[in-house]
Amino acid sequence: MVKELVTGFKNFRTNYFEKKSQILQRLSQEGQSPKTMVICCSDSRVEPSILFDTGPGDLFIVRNVANIVPPFASKNSISAGAALEYAVKNLMVKDIIVLGHAHCGGVAALCKKITNKKANMTEHSTDFIGSWVDIAKPALSEIDFDDKKENIEANAERAVVVYSYTNLLTYPWIYDAINKKALKIHAWWLDFKSVTLWKKAEGSDSFMPIEF
Ligand SMILES: [Zn+2]
Repeated sequence: MVKELVTGFKNFRTNYFEKKSQILQRLSQEGQSPKTMVICCSDSRVEPSILFDTGPGDLFIVRNVANIVPPFASKNSISAGAALEYAVKNLMVKDIIVLGHAHCGGVAALCKKITNKKANMTEHSTDFIGSWVDIAKPALSEIDFDDKKENIEANAERAVVVYSYTNLLTYPWIYDAINKKALKIHAWWLDFKSVTLWKKAEGSDSFMPIEF
């Protein structure tokens, strides 16, 4: 696979770079100034640049398991917090999008932890995954775990997106930028199967398909 990546880079240099050389040269000389930040899962199927048809310099991206933004005051907020701080204070991005997705293994791991605990089943221990996804546990307090599996999955994934979105407001400089109308935040959920993009409705935690 690594060999294929090296071949891929060679192709990038000869094909992509030739077409976009002006943009790439400008970015290397002037630095980046992306207007949009995306917070998404590490999942290999979620590729913001491909999904949104963007190029180098367009998106400032943070990826972690289950697209979690911990609350500002949490000890777990250092990694996402550093990226958010840079994006908002230095790059002054105009939009931050929390992008969740269908069939998220990270959210499934959190759901399993919760259902195993309810059933008094022994938890499969992990070094980091369990404690990381646990950050988003408050998001799932309203989930009906007796519902159909696909409903539980989608509802839990969307609830985690809303949780991260809401936590963005606990970062004082994000809150200020939104109040000054210099920044907007968004909560989106991607369904691979139907190839649809959903967004959180304004003033509600429900999701609706984005029309285009
Ligand atoms: Zn995921």
